[in-house]
Amino acid sequence: MEGDVCRLCGGDGRIGNALGRSTATCPSCHGSGRRADTSSGFHDVTKTKPSHFRPSAAEASKGPRGPTTAEGAQLAREVSESTVLGEDAKARLLVEIVNHESTHGRCTQTFIKKIRKQARPGQPNL
Ligand SMILES: [Zn+2]
Repeated sequence: MEGDVCRLCGGDGRIGNALGRSTATCPSCHGSGRRADTSSGFHDVTKTKPSHFRPSAAEASKGPRGPTTAEGAQLAREVSESTVLGEDAKARLLVEIVNHESTHGRCTQTFIKKIRKQARPGQPNL
């Protein structure tokens, strides 16, 4: 069942915002903690946007560990959708992405390749 846990809130059904003001019901799972039926709404919106600017980026930026750049968001998405990484590794890489962004102001190509290699070891770099 772990694969069904909402990746935005981690199954809590709530997210704290970065300012620590309060917790809000998770917009991805609406408080259920499950990914459930969010995927359908997801894809419709993406069709009107460039592939690197997914709604998940905006969602992630609301959470405590969201990347701030489009590259970072895309990378975070690849990490969270990775089939080879465990939950621990995913969380660690997401933190790495956020830290890298705050240090460099963006994701460097070298960094993107490095993360991508871990998230999708079988795939050639795009
Ligand atoms: Zn959620």
